[in-house]
Amino acid sequence: MTKTLHHWIGGRTVEGTSGTYGPVTDPATGAVTTRVAFAGAAEVDAAVASAKEAFAGWGRSSLATRTSVLFAFRALVDAHRDELARLITAEHGKVHSDALGEVARGLEIIDLACGIPVQLKGELSTEVASRVDVAAIRQPLGVVAGITPFNFPAMVPMWMFPLAIACGNTFVLKPSEKDPSASVRLAGLLAEAGLPDGVFNVVHGDRVAVDRLLEHPDVQAVSFVGSTPIARHIHTTAAAHGKRVQALGGAKNHMLVLPDADLDAAADAAVSAAYGSAGERCMAVSAVVAVGATGDELVRRIRERAEKVVIGPGHDPVSEMGPLITRAHRDKVASYVRGAAAQGAEVVLDGTGFTVDGYEDGHWIGISLLDRVPVTADAYRDEIFGPVLCVLRAETYEEGLALVNASPFGNGAAIFTRDGGAARRFQLEVEAGMVGVNVPIPVPVGYHSFGGWKDSLFGDHHIYGNDGTHFYTRGKVVTTRWPDPADTPAGVDLGFPRNH
Ligand code: NAD
Repeated sequence: MTKTLHHWIGGRTVEGTSGTYGPVTDPATGAVTTRVAFAGAAEVDAAVASAKEAFAGWGRSSLATRTSVLFAFRALVDAHRDELARLITAEHGKVHSDALGEVARGLEIIDLACGIPVQLKGELSTEVASRVDVAAIRQPLGVVAGITPFNFPAMVPMWMFPLAIACGNTFVLKPSEKDPSASVRLAGLLAEAGLPDGVFNVVHGDRVAVDRLLEHPDVQAVSFVGSTPIARHIHTTAAAHGKRVQALGGAKNHMLVLPDADLDAAADAAVSAAYGSAGERCMAVSAVVAVGATGDELVRRIRERAEKVVIGPGHDPVSEMGPLITRAHRDKVASYVRGAAAQGAEVVLDGTGFTVDGYEDGHWIGISLLDRVPVTADAYRDEIFGPVLCVLRAETYEEGLALVNASPFGNGAAIFTRDGGAARRFQLEVEAGMVGVNVPIPVPVGYHSFGGWKDSLFGDHHIYGNDGTHFYTRGKVVTTRWPDPADTPAGVDLGFPRNH
């Protein structure tokens, strides 16, 4: 018996009227557990109307009112970490500890939002001319929308809405239709925290709902996180409709290992970052570039560790890696591994055909390790988004760097070395938005910003941190003169005003 998940509009559950539903599956069993209502234009319009109405009050609410709601929300998310993590595991498949980590990263952004008064402090210049002051303030935009991917069903929405709401906006979230329950639970916690009805809304669905958000005249800005082709579509379409837009796309993150690196540390990092969350992370390491003569030894150590990774259902505490999100995605990932040898790669570990006893219908795939992968191979060129690590070889640092920089993606990149000078060069020379030095997944903390370069981000703003506040507000500069009664009237002057 499957349950039905509805939209959340105006502070309450609202049943879908479009008559369209999508399946939500438990990736460990392959069973459909929920049917989720897909919004048509009418439901999206209702959510935007509710958010617009709520903006009249919320946009003018005091900072103290907003932060008191956010502090209460923070306490509730903290208290419900385990429940949220279980919801994530049931629909995404990632292991419980990983899901808990995702909630913790979301909490970081709520922390930041609780401190919004500091970020929203304006600027004041007194006496810029005689008795003239200039103040710069930032104000909310109005109704803003978030469209999020399946791989972080709680964290990525929390990259967006806490800051957007803290800045005084109202929000319409269109979460991934593959694992939508966490976002509805977060909506419930926001209501419990005292958020006024309509400030946060959730509509489910696919392209139909997204395209209505993109063209809706009352949506002022769109934040998107997902794959590169969709990010490009969101950026182009939202901008064509006059909206502010930030669209974060896919990735192929490289890890450059220099010959002087601590090879055990590098192998540990490569295995954790490549196979954690079954490779379904936008900051997963999917390509290791081994520089110099250490490649064979590095591959041996990676293999040794990868073979020991325990794969199983996410709710089982011994599992280190869970299943993939859908069967179709599992089959696509497997096809890259199966095609790799014919395209010139050495298949060191082949994870295809793997299954877990008692869970034969789950979306399983084992760990794959491909060595000496040619840059022309599909497994290297495409974002696979599964537990497949490609190793490439380079003779020198320069050759390795050129390889990294030739990638159309520029999300994260890491270097492993003991040489400070080489690491410093890499920081400056690599074309990526987030760089790790002996850190394989350099996801910035909440008070910095997250974002890639090139095909990994379309738009001018990274997400969260100061960029987040900037994205969700617009600037206004107020010039004021309070004349002294003793002043002689200036009289009419048609010349261009000058400060004196
Ligand atoms: P996706 O692009 O398929 O979907 C993302 C969102 O867009 C979902 O809400 C989906 O319903 C919607 N969508 C899908 N097709 C659409 C279409 N044709 N028109 C309009 N909307 C559409 O991504 P996904 O498979 O859910 O997530 C995985 C991808 O997200 C990977 O490429 C990963 O790298 C990327 N990602 C990037 C970051 C980042 O910070 N750069 C973070 C997480 C995930």
